[in-house]
Amino acid sequence: MTVTTQRLPTLAEAVARYDPVLGLEVHVELGTVTKMFCGCSTTFGAEPNSQVCPVCLGLPGSLPVLNRVAVESAIRLGLALNCTIASWCRFARKNYFYPDMPKNFQISQYDEPIAYNGWLDVVYEGVTYRIGVTRAHLEEDTGKSVHVGGATGRIHGASHALLDYNRSGIPLIEIVSKPILVPPAIAPAVGRAYVTELRMLIRALGISPARMELGQLRCDANVSLKPSGATEFGTRTETKNVNSLRSVERAISYEIRRQAAVLSEGGRVVQETRHWHEDTGETTAGRSKEQAEDYRYFPEPDLVPLAPSPEWVESLRATLPESPVARRARLQREWRLSDLEMRDVLNAGAVDLVAATVDAGSDPAGAKKWWLGQIARAANERGVDLEQVGISPSDVAQVQALVAAGTLNDRLARQVIDGVLAGEGTPDEVVAARGLAAVSDDAALLTAVDEAIAAMPDVAAKVRAGKLAAVGALVGAVMKATRGQADAARVRELTLQRLTGPAA
Ligand SMILES: [Zn+2]
Repeated sequence: MTVTTQRLPTLAEAVARYDPVLGLEVHVELGTVTKMFCGCSTTFGAEPNSQVCPVCLGLPGSLPVLNRVAVESAIRLGLALNCTIASWCRFARKNYFYPDMPKNFQISQYDEPIAYNGWLDVVYEGVTYRIGVTRAHLEEDTGKSVHVGGATGRIHGASHALLDYNRSGIPLIEIVSKPILVPPAIAPAVGRAYVTELRMLIRALGISPARMELGQLRCDANVSLKPSGATEFGTRTETKNVNSLRSVERAISYEIRRQAAVLSEGGRVVQETRHWHEDTGETTAGRSKEQAEDYRYFPEPDLVPLAPSPEWVESLRATLPESPVARRARLQREWRLSDLEMRDVLNAGAVDLVAATVDAGSDPAGAKKWWLGQIARAANERGVDLEQVGISPSDVAQVQALVAAGTLNDRLARQVIDGVLAGEGTPDEVVAARGLAAVSDDAALLTAVDEAIAAMPDVAAKVRAGKLAAVGALVGAVMKATRGQADAARVRELTLQRLTGPAA
């Protein structure tokens, strides 16, 4: 059934009648040096098909060898997610045809995941929601198809496709949540908060940079609706490869509204995969999943079972970083933020960014101000996450250092950030190119102050007579003369000193 956007209910209208149930599947590309089953490099952005070998090209006779660091990463993530670690498990072949998967099967884990039955606590608006984790398992990534000749880069309208196998065989962990049932109106936001929290955890573990815009962390969002208060789940759809935090929330919200429209018109939700369209904010139908897909799983005969010893698991447990909750409590103390301020930083998905900016030398207040203020507004206008907006923590720390040194005042600093966001280079380059350095040299300022006093003798007389408020006109004149590049507070100080202070 096709539903037009015009008739979609709002989220509030949809959740007044239906309870959403979410299930989130998150794929993380591990930051290992080599691939899952061979020694090929995993470096991103290399010349297509330059990082391949017989194993990751699936050539006959080649044999996989398991990457120990990938297994360690999975065990550490499993432990951090409060999962049970399997004492014995196997890999399985998932058989299906796909042009960018040269073996025609993917080595994955099926009924024997390495980690299972855990949970992750997610804080949203100051309330903690415990999200269950069904499993976290290891698998290999596929290659990449590049569709050429069409306007959109999608398969539709393309004249031919190119295949790049550099990504083929890069280790992945898939984390599958249990059904997420939270207050209906905040389900999309909690879904986003879960992915945000997971990303912070993955980064704290150091197992992946988890940059969504590079596809290092991808989310598939399962959404179903049931009538308010009902216990039986409805039919779900799976929206694939949602690749920003913002999109996680939008895609879930859209699917709730779309399904509510279908159901309230007496229609039936079709079990299918759906594609998320960042530009229109809509999902469209993909592959139908009405018939269960038969992947003909069977244990991978070329790999021995994986049986991590309790000693190995315990030694890995000892390498876990502080928990995200403990880390946030510590950062809040170090940054001297109130609960509400810290909540804002968390909701903005900016904890890691502020922390990295502070690590790069900024004071916490400055770091928070820029990320949650001007940069957040720019990200919002462009419809991207903070991390994708085009300014790095070290750039922000550099701007803040220039402010602290008096080279930039606040107004100029905002212009520098605008310049960096516009792609004009590093803060130093923008300062140089736009000629933005503040006039902080007192001698130069005093010349401008004296000129202003000479030009406005009547105003100067008022100030001398004690009407200090009149000084504003003089300060304004100096700021105009220095094209706004002076520190207004310092100008005021110098002007008052000139007029009322000890004779200069
Ligand atoms: Zn290889």
